[in-house]
Amino acid sequence: MLRVGVLAIQGDVREHINSLNSLNVAVQKVRSPEELKTVNALIIPGGESTTISMLAQRFGLLEPLRAFVKEGFAVYGSCAGMIMLADEILDGKADQETIGGLDITVRRNAFGRQVDSFETDIQIKDFQEPLRAVFIRAPWVERVGNNVEVLASFKTEKLEEHPVMVRQGSLLATAFHPELTKDNRVHEYFVQMAKSVSIVN
Ligand code: GLN
Repeated sequence: MLRVGVLAIQGDVREHINSLNSLNVAVQKVRSPEELKTVNALIIPGGESTTISMLAQRFGLLEPLRAFVKEGFAVYGSCAGMIMLADEILDGKADQETIGGLDITVRRNAFGRQVDSFETDIQIKDFQEPLRAVFIRAPWVERVGNNVEVLASFKTEKLEEHPVMVRQGSLLATAFHPELTKDNRVHEYFVQMAKSVSIVN
């Protein structure tokens, strides 16, 4: 059975739990290595990646999270969660650690201060209708590795295009926050993905 954990140390944990609750899966908050052992998929919420990183280290979760990713369990990160999954960060704090695993380079707070929060419709690969995407001091992706599939991109006013939703095997990340809208299609996509890749004991 699929049991989806939500990393519950900082950020919009409750919103992700609400999105999952309508999808008929077991949901569990994860705050410790012991709780991580009870789930076979995980969501890393939006929030502040420097804080999530610092607290994950303090709670002894960073290495267990890295192992969880390496073992091939499905993990989805939104916004700060995308940063936590990235192998490389630009504009991060000097000592900012990530979980890593996703072969991308993300730039933190990439959209700049003037437009630090906005909503826009984006087209996601294989989704029939566009999705209303909420961006809050969001990162964007500046480099994707060969095995990373870009599922959605955003075009800036300067007509530069940057990926904002990517997948690499069992790892999914969005620069935006589907947990802040009633549209559950990204969570649905993740649950399907987790069912197909997860090692379900
Ligand atoms: N700017 C935040 C960070 O660096 C991410 C913002 C968010 O998750 N809404 O972690």
